[in-house]
Amino acid sequence: MIDINLFLKSATLNKEDLASKLSAFFNITVVDKVTNNTLVVDSDCFVDWEYIASLISNENLNFVFLEEFSDRNFKRDKYVDSGIKFINNTESVFKTCPIAKYSSEIKCNRPVLFLDRDGILNEDTGYVYKYSDSIIFKDMIEVIKQANSLSIPVVIVTNQAGVARGMYTVEDVDNFHTKLLAYYSSFGAKVDHIEICPFHKEKGNEEWRFDSLLRKPNPGMHLKGLAKVSGTILNSLMVGDKESDRVNLKGISTLLLSGNYDMKNSQDICSTRQELCEKISKYLNNLLDLS
Ligand SMILES: [Mg+2]
Repeated sequence: MIDINLFLKSATLNKEDLASKLSAFFNITVVDKVTNNTLVVDSDCFVDWEYIASLISNENLNFVFLEEFSDRNFKRDKYVDSGIKFINNTESVFKTCPIAKYSSEIKCNRPVLFLDRDGILNEDTGYVYKYSDSIIFKDMIEVIKQANSLSIPVVIVTNQAGVARGMYTVEDVDNFHTKLLAYYSSFGAKVDHIEICPFHKEKGNEEWRFDSLLRKPNPGMHLKGLAKVSGTILNSLMVGDKESDRVNLKGISTLLLSGNYDMKNSQDICSTRQELCEKISKYLNNLLDLS
């Protein structure tokens, strides 16, 4: 078992509760200052410790927790690195692994089906914002229904930099999604949650020009979505059609549809929609066997 020094920055934190949770995975010593192998906790939170434990082998990891900050000048949530950091000082090289910070105690035991939108759920003609039933791929409706029947939450995660670029508004994106969900609903298919990233690192005016942790391949939308549907990263599946859909998260599997964009990596690629749907279906059924 790994030795961890626990440093609680705030006096209001429940020391016993946190220490008992951590002690399932680490040998805990509560300390009063930051030392080697220190887990620093500065605000009350719930964390998927099971996931963290799965990552800690011989790797040198620096866990960065995401925290929402709101600013009334901004129209959408922004997330920053914050909260807890686990710093393993025994090695000189650090890896960063963002983890969701949950707002309340929830049970995290369900893998999630994450779906990219453009190119997977609807035709990608470039910065799509006008909804029409005719651009929606019907094959994914059956996939979503299968996930529903297996109680696997379905979350759409979509970069929408068209907002940052001034091509359409967040309201346009929300309207598209309202219509999309209504269309799915007419077939008895349910999407549990949708996350969008309207930001872009370089494009647009100040309001949207932001190096957001939400923008794929950053995992912010996934982490936020996991907290919303009480999901766990482990064994979750991401389906997309771009290299950036391979998000920076350990424990998640990926399936990509080729043909829409160049792929650098030939791993987990499907060349047809039929193959993609079959592989997702098989993956979801296997999850049932694992549970
Ligand atoms: Mg796409």
